[in-house]
Amino acid sequence: MHAAQFDYIIVGAGSAGCVLANRLSADGRYRVLLLEAGGSDRRLRVQLPIGYGLSFFDPRLNWMLHTQPEPALGGRSGYWPRGKVLGGSSSINAMVWVRGQPEDYEHWQSLGNPGWGWRDVAPVFERTEAVQGEALAAQPGRGRSGPVAVRDLARDAHPLCAVYLRAAAQAGLPLSGGFNAASTAQIEGAGLYEINTRGGLRMSAARAYLRPAARRPNLTVATHAAATRVLFEGRRAVGVAFRQGGAPHQARAQREVILSAGAVHSPLLLQASGVGPAALLRELGIAAVLANENVGRHLQDHLCIDHIYRTRVRTLNQELRPWSGRVRAALRYVLTRGGPLALSVNQGGGFIRSRPEVPRPDLQLYFSPVSYTRAPAGERPLMSPDPFPGMLLSAQPCRPQSRGELRLRSPDVLDAPVIEPHALEAPGDLPVLLAGARWLRRLAAAPAFAEVISEELLPGPAAQSDEALIADIRRRAGTVFHPCGTCRMGPEAEGAVVDAQLRVHGVQALRIVDASVFPTIPSGNTNAPAIMVGERGADLVLQAAG
Ligand SMILES: Cc1cc2nc3c(=O)[nH]c(=O)nc-3n(C[C@H](O)[C@H](O)[C@H](O)COP(=O)(O)OP(=O)(O)OC[C@H]3O[C@@H](n4cnc5c(N)ncnc54)[C@H](O)[C@@H]3O)c2cc1C
Repeated sequence: MHAAQFDYIIVGAGSAGCVLANRLSADGRYRVLLLEAGGSDRRLRVQLPIGYGLSFFDPRLNWMLHTQPEPALGGRSGYWPRGKVLGGSSSINAMVWVRGQPEDYEHWQSLGNPGWGWRDVAPVFERTEAVQGEALAAQPGRGRSGPVAVRDLARDAHPLCAVYLRAAAQAGLPLSGGFNAASTAQIEGAGLYEINTRGGLRMSAARAYLRPAARRPNLTVATHAAATRVLFEGRRAVGVAFRQGGAPHQARAQREVILSAGAVHSPLLLQASGVGPAALLRELGIAAVLANENVGRHLQDHLCIDHIYRTRVRTLNQELRPWSGRVRAALRYVLTRGGPLALSVNQGGGFIRSRPEVPRPDLQLYFSPVSYTRAPAGERPLMSPDPFPGMLLSAQPCRPQSRGELRLRSPDVLDAPVIEPHALEAPGDLPVLLAGARWLRRLAAAPAFAEVISEELLPGPAAQSDEALIADIRRRAGTVFHPCGTCRMGPEAEGAVVDAQLRVHGVQALRIVDASVFPTIPSGNTNAPAIMVGERGADLVLQAAG
């Protein structure tokens, strides 16, 4: 088979892969191939912020995965959307931009990963950002001229966000100095999220990084091209086998192969290529290149509980459900590029402590001026807001200790994998989530909210004891789609998959650059950290190339 030749092959055009494609092709010296299993992102439901309600269940844009039944979640199987399109999950996500807490990265470094401390990564976050508006630009350490547009919600937030902030103050929470401020002391508290949009359109990694590079003659972007395995000569990665248009192809990489297929597919690709747990490779009849028990293990994710309320005042339900409301919202969008269609529904937020004694915020809050208790099963709730006014408050532990794993179900990497998140299995996780549920109750009872809330719909007033709230968590808590750590970074192959240069331990010319390398889950949402890893990864590749 004729194999096209490149210097670098990047597998996956997601948050991190798009950064790499741009940076590695920038000076024109290297021939770069970017393989993406999904297709173009030029679709309204990707570009229009509110469209993520539709991409959530769209198999043309989304891998639509499911976990194994989870014992601690009442035997429920979780739904895991993952972007399958240029931009990857950044093309279908809720656009919330949060770097994490500086201590997260200090912790990464302390685990034996030099170059990943806060002092190293803060300037990288800064150079990715182009913050809009004076308030964000005035914050020290914020970027103004990077590729990723970041804006605050001050202009467009729903009026109930002001009520949320008043209720938070009444419940004793400080006002956050900004969720991307330079210190955790400033981050702590309640506030409004920053999001990735510009001109009313989603700012995905594809828009920020790939589009400006797309015309470079030395960058080839292959869509509907799904990598099936890394090709090795001995223990050196020399290329990638992939399927495109129903046919098998191969491409050769003279310098390096870089997996950026995300926290689910990067470890699966390694396993399918013979780098993974020995027993799994044996069971599936995959010729082993190198046994490494960590590939697909140490999976972390954020698990969230929503409390849902009926309100006495209008919410987004009245703007997003009736046709009259939708027409008004569409008109507002067309005239101003603003309003609810230009936003995420996650508008208010917070980073708070479950108990005063914990050293730093360990709970993340969301306030969304919308409710969906009546959405039909299998339909993205966002598309079916309740026919009455409602809102939701949500809480999630920032740094869960539970660790899951994922693996191939068959030797074919494109088969749906086995995903076992093991949520709530570490004994410390449930108490933090329960404390989160208690915080939601405190917020809802604060005078500002008590005035507008007419009824708690879920879990409902009958659930008062710890046992009842725990039962509710087991019945309803779900992922907020932040899997990571499945090819984690660490100094030795005994406990990790890649080293601090993101090189796969024990083999040559193969790196992993995406959320799978996070040594531990960051305290907030994971898109900004994945883009930061893309930037750092590009630096490391270019440094190695001299
Ligand atoms: C519904 C949803 C909402 C979210 N909301 C937020 C949010 O508001 N804020 C936030 O910070 N984070 C959010 N996240 C998480 C965040 O978007 C991800 O953590 C981040 O995008 C991960 O980046 P990545 O580069 O690791 O992987 P991805 O962006 O997922 O990219 C992986 C890419 O690799 C491709 N790929 C996989 N296998 C192959 C293969 N075999 N061959 C070729 N290509 C392949 C995929 O199709 C995909 O394009 C959300 C995620 C989802 C799914």
